[in-house]
Amino acid sequence: MSASPRTKPVPEPSEISLPFWEAARRGELRIQRCDDCGQRWWIPKAACPRCLSEAYRWERVSGRGTLYSWSAVHRPADPEAFGDEIPYLVAIVRLEEGPHMLTRMTACEPEDLVKDMPVEVVFEQASDEITLYKFRPAPGAGGGDPA
Ligand SMILES: [Zn+2]
Repeated sequence: MSASPRTKPVPEPSEISLPFWEAARRGELRIQRCDDCGQRWWIPKAACPRCLSEAYRWERVSGRGTLYSWSAVHRPADPEAFGDEIPYLVAIVRLEEGPHMLTRMTACEPEDLVKDMPVEVVFEQASDEITLYKFRPAPGAGGGDPA
């Protein structure tokens, strides 16, 4: 008896967010930037949250940021899909360019995390269409423990 591979739910791009997911598939992190006032924002919206202009571009960002907040999930809302990953780390990262992103931390343990530690984006292919964006401690970030 062999269990079939689990199918995890993946994001379903909307008309507005589709350019983001297409960029992620190419290994690029892009967020919207207003053509009129320069504001950058996340999550994808049809208009600038500051001036309501509908003129914006998808600007590639560095993929670097700092850890703003996080939580270790021990009881996932969908245990069948994510039970094999617990505890997993849901985090809010503050991008170098300003906006905050809800994401997952990967390649680390809960005890490795320190507020404001440098992090960087990594991409993980989840399906033919969807490549997920996650963050990991930036190289050399250490745990803040001087030798
Ligand atoms: Zn604007």
